[in-house]
Amino acid sequence: MKIILLGPPGAGKGTQAAMLMETHGIPQISTGDILRAAVRDQSPMGIKAKEYMDAGGLVPDEVVIGIVAERLQHADCAQGFILDGFPRTVPQADALQQVLSELNKSLNAVISLEVDTEALVERLAGRRTCSSCGRGFHLKYDPPAEDGSCSSCGGNLIQRDDDQEATIRNRMQVYQQQTAPLEDYYREQGLLTAVDGMGEIDAVQRAIETALQAS
Ligand code: AMP
Repeated sequence: MKIILLGPPGAGKGTQAAMLMETHGIPQISTGDILRAAVRDQSPMGIKAKEYMDAGGLVPDEVVIGIVAERLQHADCAQGFILDGFPRTVPQADALQQVLSELNKSLNAVISLEVDTEALVERLAGRRTCSSCGRGFHLKYDPPAEDGSCSSCGGNLIQRDDDQEATIRNRMQVYQQQTAPLEDYYREQGLLTAVDGMGEIDAVQRAIETALQAS
C-alpha cells in the first residue's frame, strides 16, 4: 500500500499514520519528524529548516523533495509507505510522481482528513510531548496523571515551538493556500477519499481502513 495522508496540521495524520504502520507493516514517512530530527542534530539542513519551521512556514520544496526521494529508496519501502506531511505543495506532488515513476511505483490512495479549523487550534495548542520517550498527550483530551510529567516514563512534557497559537494560525493559513489545492490535484486523478477526521481516533481509523479497501 502506498498512501498519502492529507490534512491540515493537527488533523491526526501522525496518529493515524502510526496505526497504519502497525496494521499494514509499512513505514510512516513524516517529513516533519525528519526535519525535527535534523534540527535537534543541528545538521546544516536542520539549521536552515529551523527558521521556516519556527515561523510556521514551509521549508523550501527542494529540501523536502530531496529528503523524500532519498527515503523512498530504502528497502523498508519496498512493500509500501505512508506519507505524512508530504506533499504539501503542487511542485512537491509533481516531484513525488516523478520519483515514484522512476521507481516503477504508483500511489494506491490519498486520504484527506476533514476537520474543523477552530477545533484544530484547540487540539494543537493543547498538545504536549514527552522529551524522553516521545509519548504524546493533550492537556484537555488526554492529560498526563501529573502536570508536566510523562505518565509512561516520568520525562518532562514539552510543547513544540510551532504549537504556539499565533504560529498555529499561520500554519493553517499556509495549509489553505499551499496544500489544500492538492485535494483537487488528487481528486482529479481519482485517488482522493475524504474521511471525517473529527471523530474518535478508532472511528477515524476504521473509516480509513474502509476507504483503503475500496481503493
Ligand atoms: P508537521 O510535523 O508535518 O506539522 O511539520 C512541521 C513543520 O515542518 C511544518 O510546519 C513545516 O515548516 C515543515 N515541513 C514538514 N513537512 C513539510 C513539507 N512537506 N514541505 C515543507 N515544509 C514541511
